[in-house]
Amino acid sequence: MPTGRYAPSPTGTFHLGNLRTAVAAALFARLDDGRCLLRWEDLDVTATAEHEADQRRDFAELGLAFDGLDLHQRDRGDAYRDALEDLRQAGLTYPCWCSRKDIRDAPTAPHGPPGSYPGTCRDLSRAEIAQRESSGRPPAIRLRADSADVTIHDRLHGAHRQQVDDFVLRRFDGTPAYNLVVVVDDAYQGVDQVVRGDDLLPSTPRHAHLHHVLGTPEPEWVHVSLVLDSGRERLAKRDGSAGLAEWREHGGTVGSLLAAIGRSLGIETDAVADLRELSASFDPHAVSTRPVVYNPRGPVLAFAD
Ligand code: GLU
Repeated sequence: MPTGRYAPSPTGTFHLGNLRTAVAAALFARLDDGRCLLRWEDLDVTATAEHEADQRRDFAELGLAFDGLDLHQRDRGDAYRDALEDLRQAGLTYPCWCSRKDIRDAPTAPHGPPGSYPGTCRDLSRAEIAQRESSGRPPAIRLRADSADVTIHDRLHGAHRQQVDDFVLRRFDGTPAYNLVVVVDDAYQGVDQVVRGDDLLPSTPRHAHLHHVLGTPEPEWVHVSLVLDSGRERLAKRDGSAGLAEWREHGGTVGSLLAAIGRSLGIETDAVADLRELSASFDPHAVSTRPVVYNPRGPVLAFAD
């Protein structure tokens, strides 16, 4: 019985891609009578209670109910500090004063993915550290990952291999970074199945590596495709369009949206659907990794060609 989760960031109104991922998380988790938990990833400065309430309304409209109590990351500061301290004591962290520009301008590590940290601050001498500390600029904290070569196995994408860079665990402003908190919280909530958008697939070897060094079990990974707009750009939460309200403005209903999401997840269903119906005919082998395109005229969701 899997324990899955959906982990929204309450930073805007859900778009159809968010809703599709939430439905996918519920369908995968409930396949074997598992649970699907809810976690609010609300450490971002743009996260608000209003956005959270707005997102809860969408869940209610879709009939999406989660199990147990939901978790808010803003309540979890002690847990993140403890995890950082464990890593520090194991000699697995170091302070880093690099700006984005420093990182952009530095030659990248030979086998790292694009944008990976080149290791500039990894082996500073005491004198170099003292000099940077005296600048008064607070450092970020990075994981000493030793360029670990990690292969993860995704249920839809198969094996995905990547070298893990020294990624940020705590940002220079003191905020724990997503790549730390997602691992600490999945372990804390007993999550053993992570369903999320495939934009996060390149970050997953980092998460698997961190589970490994923290001694927590690596969950099963399931990365579902994103929903794109007609210009083939990913939908964004920021402007509030491309959500349930717009679907309705174009004559859609909750039932037709669930049916459209269901079809985009390989379920053969016509216009009227509810979650129970989708759950009953969900076949994980029929889920495609192809991106989905949203066309408000219709309104329809269709696979990208
Ligand atoms: N909070 C992220 C989002 O809203 C998801 C992170 C995750 O599922 O690990 O896209």
